Amino acid sequence: MQTLPAFLARVTPPLTPALVVRRSALMRNLAAMQARCDAAGVALRAHGKMHKCSEVGRLQVAGGAVGLCCQTVGEAEAFAAAGIDDLLVTAPIAPWGAARLAALVATGVRISVVSDDDAQVDRLAEAARAADVVLNVVVDVDLGLHRAGCPPTEAVALARRIATSNALRFDGVQAYLGHLQHLADLDARRSANEAATAILAALVDSLNAEGLSPARVTGGGTGTFAYDLAAGVFTELQAGSYAFMDAEYDGCGAPDGEPWPFEPALFIAASIVSAQHKTHVTNDAGLKAVAVDGPPAKVVAGAPEGSRWFSMGDEHGGIAHPATFQQFAAAARDALTRDRTITVIDSDPAVPWPADAPKSGDLVWLQPGHCDPTVNLYDAIFVADEDGTLERWPIDARRVSG
Ligand code: PLP
Ligand code: MN
Repeated sequence: MQTLPAFLARVTPPLTPALVVRRSALMRNLAAMQARCDAAGVALRAHGKMHKCSEVGRLQVAGGAVGLCCQTVGEAEAFAAAGIDDLLVTAPIAPWGAARLAALVATGVRISVVSDDDAQVDRLAEAARAADVVLNVVVDVDLGLHRAGCPPTEAVALARRIATSNALRFDGVQAYLGHLQHLADLDARRSANEAATAILAALVDSLNAEGLSPARVTGGGTGTFAYDLAAGVFTELQAGSYAFMDAEYDGCGAPDGEPWPFEPALFIAASIVSAQHKTHVTNDAGLKAVAVDGPPAKVVAGAPEGSRWFSMGDEHGGIAHPATFQQFAAAARDALTRDRTITVIDSDPAVPWPADAPKSGDLVWLQPGHCDPTVNLYDAIFVADEDGTLERWPIDARRVSG
């Protein structure tokens, strides 16, 4: 296997900014997670919201995943259109989505949707009746994320409401522990995950006692995958980021304290479009090419070690050179990370012009801070083989609704 810089040196995307996936790394990541799930006897239902790309979804299913998770009705429609026919919508849907979901069921796709309240369940039943189908509904339980999900104490009643509707089928329970995924303190990540999955196990016992045995118990993510697989309660793992990885997951570490079994597979190629300053060069990957909700994108090739990417607006990013970067006062460094006040120190005659700075026209390579929202900014992924050959895969599940 080529090192990352040797591999990236062989790749020349036809345009920039470009999203590039290293095929061999993707395949290793898919195989590694599938092997972990197989060994634990837990099905892998990879989260498709991360890549929104049915080519990647097909590879996950071909490799042994039972199907995909989706976060939106639009994703479910796109994956179904691409022939991926076992889907779970992992977020409660807005009223407009119920009829569209029922219409998908009518096409023969096996699809389930989560729900966390009575009114939602009733809307789903109404839509199912109108389309003359039976809709599979999973009870979403909140174990601390507080984004969606009913309290565990209300889950049995909701399951019964679903089970007693002639238009719906009770299809299990979901608990996603998103608030734990990136906890840097591994002991805290592990113990919080164990406490939450114990509550989930008790809920499963209650459902069994009520004659409402859940057909599936689904949840889990990349940051907790080892705990989720060992918990003995999940029948399905919903991890998503493991396929591409990102700087945020690289930074917070694998749940078992070992090196990650998943490697960076997702990169952004950017071109240096202006090099007028000692302190930084300007590239064409700005806010419309790099999601900035996570840690900053990491410069992985094309600029000296220690260079840093920062946003310079909608269409532009800066690459701060490490030699000059180190000379900035702490306050200037903070400002640099935040925005564009960098030119203040640019005029300092004591700062030498760095000879190894990228030149106008050069390519620089970034690893995104957060994979999901970054992928969502692009129309396609360029999938790169080790020899630099590129294949274009559309990000076909990106449309939101229309
Ligand atoms: N399940 C749900 C409901 C999610 O929202 C997410 C991601 O946010 C995942 C699974 C996958 O998590 P990760 O990307 O950390 O593997
Ligand atoms: Mn994410």
